[in-house]
Amino acid sequence: MRDYREISLWKNVTPEEWNDWHWQLSNRITDIEALSEIITLTPEEKKALNDDLLELRMAITPYYATLMDPNDVNCPIRMQAVPTSKERYTAEEDFYDPLAEDRYAPVPGFVHRYPDRGILLVTDQCSMYCRFCTRRRFAGEVDRPKSREEIQAAIDYIERTPVLRDILITGGDPLTMEDENLEWLLMSLRRIPHVEIIRIGTRVPAVMPQRITRSLVSMLRQFHPLWINVHFNHPKEITPYSTRALNMLADAGIPLGNQSVLLRGINDCPYIFKELFHKLLVNRVRPYYIYQCDLSRGISHFRTSVGKGIEIIEFLRGHTTGMAVPTFVVDAPGGGGKIPLMPNYLLAQGERRVVLRNFEGTITVYTEPEDASSHCHGCKEICMRQSMSSGGGVSELLEGSRLQLEPQVLKREERRHQWMEEKKDQSLNTSKPECPFL
Ligand SMILES: *Cc1c(COP(=O)(O)O)cnc(C)c1O
Ligand code: SF4
Repeated sequence: MRDYREISLWKNVTPEEWNDWHWQLSNRITDIEALSEIITLTPEEKKALNDDLLELRMAITPYYATLMDPNDVNCPIRMQAVPTSKERYTAEEDFYDPLAEDRYAPVPGFVHRYPDRGILLVTDQCSMYCRFCTRRRFAGEVDRPKSREEIQAAIDYIERTPVLRDILITGGDPLTMEDENLEWLLMSLRRIPHVEIIRIGTRVPAVMPQRITRSLVSMLRQFHPLWINVHFNHPKEITPYSTRALNMLADAGIPLGNQSVLLRGINDCPYIFKELFHKLLVNRVRPYYIYQCDLSRGISHFRTSVGKGIEIIEFLRGHTTGMAVPTFVVDAPGGGGKIPLMPNYLLAQGERRVVLRNFEGTITVYTEPEDASSHCHGCKEICMRQSMSSGGGVSELLEGSRLQLEPQVLKREERRHQWMEEKKDQSLNTSKPECPFL
């Protein structure tokens, strides 16, 4: 981390200004001239910045800029913040909206994909625009929060949808909003009786920690149970500034989680993640997810194999504190949601014995009891409550309430329909329809 006073652009900036998030936000680096006063740009970077074809604008907070290595193009901080012309390449597998968020939005700005929870997109603004952003289709489009009227429509949907017990506020970055606006939003959600927990997803503690002020945390703590998930990708993002921000949030009683994105050339190494997660735990942040990089347009150069993520979990589980091991997920293209992946620990399964391996490669056997059957506990109230918002799927097969799950496109079924059509033609003059299953 560089001292900002050594950078010519900011040599006259006072500590008060530097520590003021409004100053940080309005002094973001958005053009090549300012950027070239901070780092040595390669011809490649200059080219990328010189034309306006970038889908996602550039904006870097002065704070985050001081974490960049001025001379190393492969600096993990720089690679997250400075555009390159690689972003202009669209791979065959790229999508405009890989997670089909727009398709699962019952009202603009609210994605209802899972049975009992949803995400509320309140702004398209971020303090720093991550080059690998999955929401690059709209992040930074107008660079300001939505109007209260727009957000109100989503709040109305939440209000009339009683299964929604968990609301995740995201964007953009919700913490770029002013305190009053956020307070209005949190108050509106807290007023809804079925909203049990509220979550905020934010990258602010990593890219503009000055935003975490005393007045912000004392406002936030009125809305418990409130959870915050932060977004750190590299141990270099843990600084005295971000540490202070995280401690203030934790001291306000807000449980903190972290979501990282697995990024080629930036953090695709188990040791980098181990270091990052150790540092996060020291700051009372529990690693929650590592995301496989999504199939958003123009970010294929940031993607690793899926195997890299599984390998990282292999290097963590058992080797270090269990709380330092997040879940590695692939967010299913097309809107299927997050799919967890991990190394295989189950080697074989017999009638009463499972053969398992541990992180060292030791192979053991666990013998199950003679009678391991479970019975209904007869607690009807819990059953009724929980099954109402149950998500169906494979759990319905286990429950026995469904016999099979079938793909929508099934050749076998197509054949059967054809037979039925043929039969219908033949039996037009008979009055009794035949059972289709015969
Ligand atoms: C990630 C996500 C959630 C929250 O998922 P959790 O696994 O509960 O953290 C909810 N809705 C959408 C659309 C998401 O992408
Ligand atoms: S903070 Fe999140 S939404 Fe904003 S640019 Fe980064 S990844 Fe995208």
